[in-house]
This record gives sequence, structure tokens and C-alpha cells, in this order.
Amino acid sequence: MGTALPISRTLRGIFNARFICQALQEEEIFAILHGQSLFPIGWIHTHPSQTYFMSSIDFHTQYSYQVMVPEAIGIVMAPTDTSRSYGIFRLSDGGKKILKDCPEKGFHLHKEPVDGSPLYGDCSNVYINSCLRLEIFDLR
Ligand SMILES: [Zn+2]
Ligand SMILES: [Zn+2]
Repeated sequence: MGTALPISRTLRGIFNARFICQALQEEEIFAILHGQSLFPIGWIHTHPSQTYFMSSIDFHTQYSYQVMVPEAIGIVMAPTDTSRSYGIFRLSDGGKKILKDCPEKGFHLHKEPVDGSPLYGDCSNVYINSCLRLEIFDLR
């Protein structure tokens, strides 16, 4: 396709608790995307001292993206994971049904989808092009 993929991420308005870091004021990100005529196709975050996986909170964030764009991806960077430093994930159809009906907040367990599929999986169909232009908007 040859299309650049700028990634915007606000660093201002981040709330840090001991184990949770949550992005706030995400409307600023969407304002930048709108101003650049871009459309979000996913999100990225870091597990600084954990492995690459999606937490229950990540599931809910991912669900909010997949409601808008079914093909949306969630990238988890895990720089200290010696087995793999990142994962690119998407909820399964069964996973989306579980998340749609889940009222919980914070870290919690999810039941398995009734169709036997996992809640989420690797996006094996994502091609990584290291030649794309990266533009960062630092809103601090
Ligand atoms: Zn996470
Ligand atoms: Zn849940």
C-alpha cells in the first residue's frame, strides 16, 4: 500500500498507580488523528516488567477498538520479556461476545467463550514494515 502510519500517543494525562497506568484525555489523540485525516486501527502500550500478554483491562480497551473497527489490533510491548518483546493481538469472535457482556472493571477473570476458542490470539496476518514513517505527537 505504501501508506505511512503515524502513531500518535499522548503522554500528558497519564495516571500512574502502583500497578495500573491508564491513559486519560484520549480525546486529544482523536483530535490529532482527525486533524491529520487519520483513522485509528489499534493501540499500543507497554508492560515494562511483565511478559507480552493482554490483561483483563487490556481486553476491555481492545474491545472498545474492535467495536469501531473489527480488524483493530492491540500491541503489547514487553521489553524485559526474554522470550518475545512484543505481541500483536486481536479478540476472537467468542472473546468479543464475552467482553460485550462483562460489566467488571479493573483486573478480573473472564470466562472462556462457549465456542471453545481463546479470548484472543496473535494477529498472524499483520505485516510489519520497518520502512514506514513514524511521527510522534508529544502532548506533555
Ligand atoms: Zn497491558
Ligand atoms: Zn471484563
